[in-house]
Amino acid sequence: MLVTLHGAANEVTGSCYLVETGNARVLVDCGLFQGSKHLEKLNFIPASLLPSKIHAVVLTHGHLDHCGRLPLLVKSGYRGNIYGTQGTLDIARLILADAAKIQADDADRENRKRARAGQKPIKPLFTLADAEQVFKRFSPLSYNEWADIASDTKIQLVEAGHILGSSSVIMVADQNGGRRRLVFSGDLGQWNVPINRDPALMDRSDAVFMECTYGGRVHPAYDDTIKELSRLIIDAIARKGKILVPTFAVGRTQQLLFHLSEMIAKGEIPAIPIYLDSPMATAATQIYSNHTDVLDPEVREFFSDDNIRRFLPTLKICTTALESQALNDVEAPCIIMAGAGMCDAGRIVHHLRHNLSLASTLLLIVGYQAKESLGRRLLDGANPVKIMGQTIFVRAKIVSVDGFSAHADKNDLLRWIEPLVRHKSRVILTHGESHQLSEMRHELQEKFGLSAQIPSIGDVIEI
Ligand SMILES: [Zn+2]
Ligand SMILES: [Zn+2]
Repeated sequence: MLVTLHGAANEVTGSCYLVETGNARVLVDCGLFQGSKHLEKLNFIPASLLPSKIHAVVLTHGHLDHCGRLPLLVKSGYRGNIYGTQGTLDIARLILADAAKIQADDADRENRKRARAGQKPIKPLFTLADAEQVFKRFSPLSYNEWADIASDTKIQLVEAGHILGSSSVIMVADQNGGRRRLVFSGDLGQWNVPINRDPALMDRSDAVFMECTYGGRVHPAYDDTIKELSRLIIDAIARKGKILVPTFAVGRTQQLLFHLSEMIAKGEIPAIPIYLDSPMATAATQIYSNHTDVLDPEVREFFSDDNIRRFLPTLKICTTALESQALNDVEAPCIIMAGAGMCDAGRIVHHLRHNLSLASTLLLIVGYQAKESLGRRLLDGANPVKIMGQTIFVRAKIVSVDGFSAHADKNDLLRWIEPLVRHKSRVILTHGESHQLSEMRHELQEKFGLSAQIPSIGDVIEI
């Protein structure tokens, strides 16, 4: 059995493994490279993948760095099924459609510039029509059921606890009279945090590919994170300010809605107006409501039926651009949740332009901010900043609440891998920056005397 790494090797994005058994060629994930021009150059389907000769694709979850090259794969001739849990396929549909729209807008903007300079126009990486060809191939699987996906290969998807529908993949292939078992962790979540169920543990495999996004980091305690959040909200309310929360549509938005309802129910914060000003986050929340059976039992009631409105009577959903603009005139205090999560695009930008110069405003950062993003620059104290061509002098309070990560930390990863290591599984570390990977390798050496492998992109591993 051969596994070739076509992404997420020595870095986080572009997850894509080609597994070749005796008779079958199967892809696990087919994600986009993101984060820099250098990485984005890798967003193509290598000829060696032979898309028309791949028998099946399995998705671990719907994030773009795991599904974003699927439109290119189908355009290059892939004609098989794309398997994942129903939750994963619904999220992937939302995320791919959104990515197609962003790419079309970016290409239009660039082409206006090029037209002025007399240069040839560029094409977006993929269009909505390309994404729709992907959706036709979606084939849902239930958690924990074995499914034959090729003549000699079957898989089982088990809970990974990262976002709705996320799974680890167990793959079993028969070849040359022997049976080989592989595990792909997918992106793993934290234990004992609401919204998602805890990751499932597995006890044996010939080899395991484990993500290491935070292979060397320990997250702050989750309870402390929630306490800090409520303290900051109370402080902003006392200052009669607007609380701006740049949100990632999938996962973080739902987590915040749930915690806000809990804080209000317990009387920790007053029931101030909460505006969800992101059509994508609203659509993602609906997907969570459609799949309460695979959520953490403690949040199922909150997300069921129309309960979100019952538990959060002050929640208002802003659908149109006009409704979003009208938030400029609403009274403070209030909470405005809007995308994009790193402040670089979407409706949050106009809220920042209107409110960052007010000392009463709180900008509450609850997610990862990449280098160079507006969110990162504001956190680092940039002042003034240029937003939509306007110079804004920043007087708002800007705070980052860490500890909301959708990813397992070092201790979670060790807990997940331990039963597999005890059963002598070979360990291959992927989906992490170099220092996170080497810290995890060091931990595994210290704790279990195990030497884990850290492959590079293009490496072929024989199992
Ligand atoms: Zn992910
Ligand atoms: Zn990932």
